[in-house]
Amino acid sequence: MTAEIISVGTELLLGNIVNTNAAYLAQQCAALGLSVYYQSVVGDNPERLKSTLKLALERSDVIFLGGGLGPTEDDLTKETVSELLGRRLVEDTHTRERIAEFFARIGKEPTENNWKQALVPEDAIVLDNANGSAPGIILEEKGKTLILLPGPPMEMIPLFETHVFPYLREKEPDVILSKMLKICGIGESRVEMELKDLIHEYQNPTIATYAKTGEVHVRVTAKAGTESEAKKLLKPVVRELKVRFGRNIYTTDENQELEDVIVDLLKEQNLSITTVESCTGGLLAGRLVNVPGVSDIFKQGYVTYSNKAKRKLVGVKKDTLSANGAVSEKTAKEMAKGAMLMTGSDIAVAVTGIAGPDGGSPEKPVGLVYIACNFRGKTVVQEYHFSGNRKKIRESSVTAALVLLRECILENIRL
Ligand code: ATP
Repeated sequence: MTAEIISVGTELLLGNIVNTNAAYLAQQCAALGLSVYYQSVVGDNPERLKSTLKLALERSDVIFLGGGLGPTEDDLTKETVSELLGRRLVEDTHTRERIAEFFARIGKEPTENNWKQALVPEDAIVLDNANGSAPGIILEEKGKTLILLPGPPMEMIPLFETHVFPYLREKEPDVILSKMLKICGIGESRVEMELKDLIHEYQNPTIATYAKTGEVHVRVTAKAGTESEAKKLLKPVVRELKVRFGRNIYTTDENQELEDVIVDLLKEQNLSITTVESCTGGLLAGRLVNVPGVSDIFKQGYVTYSNKAKRKLVGVKKDTLSANGAVSEKTAKEMAKGAMLMTGSDIAVAVTGIAGPDGGSPEKPVGLVYIACNFRGKTVVQEYHFSGNRKKIRESSVTAALVLLRECILENIRL
């Protein structure tokens, strides 16, 4: 089955709000095994909505219409759909009661307009909206399914999860299972090269790669009649990927980020850590501190942006700075060593680089970054050349520092 997403709202069209609902719905469709071929955004205009909807009814099986279910004049999704399908709008008593209850709960009086939200097209399946007054609506029309959803994500998402997902799951009973493998330390083109034969060989499961900053995620998705059949299909491919990418796979848990895995590793090994950052200015410490429970292992985060701070806080030698510059292998090494000595941590990670847009030179261009990791006195340092703007270079540096940190831990606990 194919699905199409129509988002209604002039705010979306003008770019005043980002269409996160469409992204959510598209992801859910993938999980349901529905292929999304079209998405569109239409302003609050009945004629244009009608023509978009007509086209969607010709080419898709399931059509989502998001937004425009509110009580005001410009909320016209329901009215337009009813007119196009030739269905009257009738009052849904249950929804009317829910609207009354909803307003009683929030301690406000409904206005005449609010009762408009109890009107639904004839023969509609009405879905309770637990977080707002506009119900969701499902309409079956000549083999096509139209699903009308409220605009606010905090209303739309719970409504989708509770009512729409199970409804569509029954229509498309095949089970879709997927496994995510998150890879670090190798670039996207290498990952794709390594996967080329498998991607061609397999149609079910499918293998898709997604490039993230400093990481590559690989999703393997199987479709089958039952969960166990889908698992059976996934298994050999996941096993093969594990063989090919080995310890570059840092997790197979969709919800885990690189920093989660590293903090777990540090805790498990009882290793404390200190960060010392120049161009990333605390971003690395911030990523680590995103993880709950990091206090067990995180000793300190230095931001040593100036040369003076590098000297005063972590003891980088004046000579090192004058002979090699702040962005150099030697400075990175001394930053890491100094931070480790100052705090007595098991590990210290240092980042120094040129994030731009100014400050680059032919010898030291923007994007040049050195990262050092000192593990109980033994230091590794690496040179990187990142591209992109200041923000991108800083983010790439943080991910590279995490990857190097993970490498160091794994190397040292193996010994
Ligand atoms: P309401 O009952 O609140 O009027 P509605 O169904 O009429 O809801 P809209 O008026 O179209 O929905 O949008 C209400 C709000 O929901 C928007 O101001 C916006 O904050 C959010 N919203 C709407 N559509 C989207 C979308 N596609 N993605 C993200 N947020 C959205």
